[in-house]
Amino acid sequence: MEILRATTMGFCMGVRLAMQAMEELIKSDTPRPIHTYGPLIHNQRVLDGLAERGVGRIDRVDEASKGTVVLRTHGVRPQEKQALIDAGVRVVDLTCPRVVTSQKAVASAVEKGFQVILVGDRNHGEIIALEGFAPGCEIIGTTEEAERVVMKGPAHVVGQTTLLRDDFLAISLILKKRNPLAQTALTLCPATVQRQNALLELSRAVEALLVIGGRNSANTGKLYQQALHTGIPAWHIEGAADLGADVFGFSRVGITAGASTPDWIVEEVEAALRRGGRNV
Ligand code: SF4
Repeated sequence: MEILRATTMGFCMGVRLAMQAMEELIKSDTPRPIHTYGPLIHNQRVLDGLAERGVGRIDRVDEASKGTVVLRTHGVRPQEKQALIDAGVRVVDLTCPRVVTSQKAVASAVEKGFQVILVGDRNHGEIIALEGFAPGCEIIGTTEEAERVVMKGPAHVVGQTTLLRDDFLAISLILKKRNPLAQTALTLCPATVQRQNALLELSRAVEALLVIGGRNSANTGKLYQQALHTGIPAWHIEGAADLGADVFGFSRVGITAGASTPDWIVEEVEAALRRGGRNV
């Protein structure tokens, strides 16, 4: 079987930096216990591996009493970060640099007296954290909401980093038409669209596709949906153990992976494909 990888796949910059920092932290003499504040990434096998090495997880400030607490790439509300510091734990902030740029854009807009409008999923960790920099700001996710949102003078529009550019532009256009004083911040991250474009290109060169990543990873789920639309057989797997017999009937198989899938899981899948599925 010939196995082709997508030209862009796997860990994005923010997740790679966070995982490297976590490795260094585990080896360091940072105060114990180490906890992550929420799941570090959306990949259960990686989280299980961290748990085996003594890294626990908390989800609320009142669970932090000692040791080290690691903030994940989506960031947290500044009030929460301060509460963790006040609780006496060492806080290690692994917020993605791109998300930090968005947080700074929101904080600066508030300082200048702008109305802040966030565009994204109000239930997503990144938007929840951003709202903390502009408490009470407007949060919208659709063009319909852009038509309805109450606008009050100069406004600053900031999008969730993982939004698709076209979706953000469509919403921004409506806001700017309604309010010429509205400004937009360019904070979108190309990681999602780069993985989607690479998958499309790969699909033209193979007979079947494997999308590797956690079942609870939103970006892996989106990649899989896109794979289904290519018209060739596609599977979403978490690792080699999920490989079905059908895939071994193809002679050219393409693989891609979500932004929270580590290289070692991709290599495990590739090795199993090369072995013809034996000892998976
Ligand atoms: S998808 Fe982009 S913004 Fe999100 S963690 Fe990765 S690099 Fe950062």
